[in-house]
Amino acid sequence: MEPHLAAKIAAGEVVDRPASVVKELVENALDAGATAIRVDVEGGGADRIVVADNGRGIPAAEVELAFRRHATSKLSREEDLDTLCTLGFRGEALPSIAAVADVACATRSATEQVGLEFRIDGGSLEERPLARQVGTTMVVERLFARFPARRKFLRSRGAEAAACVQVVQPLALAFPEVQMAVLVDGREGFRSPGDGDLRGAALAVLGRDAERHLLQVPATVLVDDSGGDAVEVSGVCSAGGYHRSSRTAIHVLVNRRPVQNRSLSFAVVEAYGSALPVGRQPVAVLDVRVPPSAVDFNVHPSKLEVKLLRERTVYAAIQRAVRAALAREEWAVASWSDGGGHAESTVSMGGERLAELRLLGQAGGTYLIAEGDAGVYLVDQHAAHERVLLEALRAGLVRRSERQLLLEPVVLDVPPEAVGVIESAAAELDHLGFDLDVFGPRQLLLRAVPGVLAARQPERVLAAALAAVGSGGHGLVVKEGASWVEQLALVLACKTAVRAGDRLSETEMLALLRQLGEAELCRTCAHGRPTAILLSHAHLERQFGRR
Ligand code: ADP
Ligand code: MG
Repeated sequence: MEPHLAAKIAAGEVVDRPASVVKELVENALDAGATAIRVDVEGGGADRIVVADNGRGIPAAEVELAFRRHATSKLSREEDLDTLCTLGFRGEALPSIAAVADVACATRSATEQVGLEFRIDGGSLEERPLARQVGTTMVVERLFARFPARRKFLRSRGAEAAACVQVVQPLALAFPEVQMAVLVDGREGFRSPGDGDLRGAALAVLGRDAERHLLQVPATVLVDDSGGDAVEVSGVCSAGGYHRSSRTAIHVLVNRRPVQNRSLSFAVVEAYGSALPVGRQPVAVLDVRVPPSAVDFNVHPSKLEVKLLRERTVYAAIQRAVRAALAREEWAVASWSDGGGHAESTVSMGGERLAELRLLGQAGGTYLIAEGDAGVYLVDQHAAHERVLLEALRAGLVRRSERQLLLEPVVLDVPPEAVGVIESAAAELDHLGFDLDVFGPRQLLLRAVPGVLAARQPERVLAAALAAVGSGGHGLVVKEGASWVEQLALVLACKTAVRAGDRLSETEMLALLRQLGEAELCRTCAHGRPTAILLSHAHLERQFGRR
């Protein structure tokens, strides 16, 4: 390697805990073309870490080199930095690990008949021949044993072992064709199927319970308008009814490397909009491909952070792809427990259209009952109507709503702060369908309301929202990051929708089913609750003991 290149690759501390050793060794195994990798962790990894692979092995002549700093077989010229597709390229990991732990290795290269075993002892290398299959087994023992100060910073064995498992999982997502297993003190902590299917790898990581909630993200290509670079996104993401409390299950891979990028995770969250309850986070595994020259993985020693030259395009492509997945969502209907504790698995609606269902009636003044080929549907009338109204209002914000003039303008008494809010949001409110004028320091004049809400007295909700403006902040805290008017739309949809207990006429019920069928995100209400539940024929047959 040219010396200035070695300098260009900023040296950084590679090994700070057992999980970072596991990460480096598994990455090396992947770079060596392994199709199966097994990790054994003992004593939280501080006692012993073994990573065994069936990759191409290390030729005897290169063993010594592999442990020399900045010796890498993967990079020789500066230009290579731009086109690199291996995970490692710094040549820092093995020497860094050998400096803080006892390292032994058994390897046989595909080009050699016998393998060899070697041990690094105080900087010198002892080796002897060994019969074994092609591949490499690295053994790292007594990590930080000679560095009590470092060892003190390790957390409990359980926590360190968990971190070792967590560091392998994103790599299993990036390499779904490689079978990976992590054993913690002999017990299986993680296993990926290694059959090349991203969905299977995603389920191994996210847990089986995610299975029926995962939507396929259709391959989506966006071409950057400046350079013409194409960004492609595909993968899986959760349906609106499935969510978690943190963003840790949003995995983004860029050119098959797991990356941590808050902006890209946020792109995923934002694409859900109102499909999720406030404060809840989706799960997703997104495979992003960009031209190698549009990404720089060299900004961080452990390569988790990336610099994307086309970040805005990637952001937009992620949003488009996730929205497409949500729009296509099948009727994955909420599960319920049937007394035996077994949750009924959801049944896809199989393309059944809500407008074509046969309406049977209304139960408890709350649920519409309808029948289709797949079974009997129970539709929550409030959740359904709320979703329909929200989408109509949202569409208005983009394309301008139809408005309904009030017969008499209404004077709204508001706190003085509300006048400022109204003035700064004038254009958005106008799009939504409200015609509002400032009438005095504490009064507004309302002349028109959004057409979809005309029969549902939106002025009361508007007045209440404006009255709240004075009392701390801007009054509405429904959704983080949304504008005041977007939040107003959420509140309007919720407060003006038909309620549980409202009797509906047959015409109203049919109209609601039809409108819900036309909604883009018809599966959940604005709070992320399901709008409908399907009692499948199969479920009913089981319940009645017919099967
Ligand atoms: P880098 O991965 O950045 O090249 P490392 O210090 O991690 O640097 O590894 C040094 C070299 O050792 C690699 O370039 C590779 O040639 C060799 N090597 C390490 N682990 C393996 C493995 N499991 N199989 C084959 N070769 C390996
Ligand atoms: Mg490496």
